[in-house]
Amino acid sequence: MGRTSKDKRDVYYRLAKENGWRARSAFKLLQLNEEFQLFQGVTRAVDLCAAPGSWSQVLSQKIGGQGSGHVVAVDLQAMAPLPGVLQIQGDITQLSTAKEIIRHFEGCPADLVVCDGAPDVTGLHDVDEYMQAQLLLAALNIATHVLKPGGCFVAKIFRGRDVTLIYSQLRVFFSSVLCAKPRSSRNSSIEAFAVCQGYDPPEGFLPDLTKPLLDHSYDPDFNQLDGPTRIIVPFVTCGDLSAYDSDRSYPLDPPISPPYQEACTLKKKGRLAKEIRPQDCPISTVDTLSQ
Ligand code: SAM
Repeated sequence: MGRTSKDKRDVYYRLAKENGWRARSAFKLLQLNEEFQLFQGVTRAVDLCAAPGSWSQVLSQKIGGQGSGHVVAVDLQAMAPLPGVLQIQGDITQLSTAKEIIRHFEGCPADLVVCDGAPDVTGLHDVDEYMQAQLLLAALNIATHVLKPGGCFVAKIFRGRDVTLIYSQLRVFFSSVLCAKPRSSRNSSIEAFAVCQGYDPPEGFLPDLTKPLLDHSYDPDFNQLDGPTRIIVPFVTCGDLSAYDSDRSYPLDPPISPPYQEACTLKKKGRLAKEIRPQDCPISTVDTLSQ
């Protein structure tokens, strides 16, 4: 089968393999940082929805001078350990997970909260956008507990019908909100990133985990912001023009070695150990195996 630009193994996938990043998403955070200098002065960061961990890798290497920063990474899924990254396995929409994250920052708030969370896509656009928005609001809720004043929050958004409402909610808490599209994020995807700088909650705002910002009674008619209430946030593309375009195909340099290459070579030589299945064994061995 021919390889197309929509192939999962696009140029950023291959670059990620070559550079030891766990996912091509690493380039999204790196390109966002190129544009917004997100890591400047950051020593403590939270990576929400972090698995398999490429954003945590970037953070642990880039923040706190010589990579001496403190990163807390959270995901539903387990992640292989990373040096300098404290991992929590849990659901960010759950109170217990939020509390566990917050505990790590009590008395010493975070400079940066990032969230690259994506729900399992159903293909029903309205449902996917709604789920994505809920994930973002859960992340924002956690950010309001752990971010220092002036801190920064970056979260994946789907630029769907109700994105204006999300921008408005974010503008309540941050002095600057932009929508950014890194070059490593495919044009064909409605994904973008809300880059929110200058954490500045409204006067008297008390973060309250028992009243999450999650929108439980969603009413699409009521929630539309039109006319003067509509917020238009600047849209910025990041990653300079020399950066690879994720929607293009490039001639492939010598193929990178897949992690299973050794197994392929052994198999060709007939030296790959075979799994022993009971049906392949003589009766006497089956008896022994099933004991
Ligand atoms: N930034 C990651 C990286 O660079 O490796 C990739 C993140 S991946 C696109 C999205 C992640 O969101 C998945 O690992 C998924 O498990 C996680 N996720 C989705 N819903 C979540 C939730 N409610 N709580 C925690 N993690 C969640």
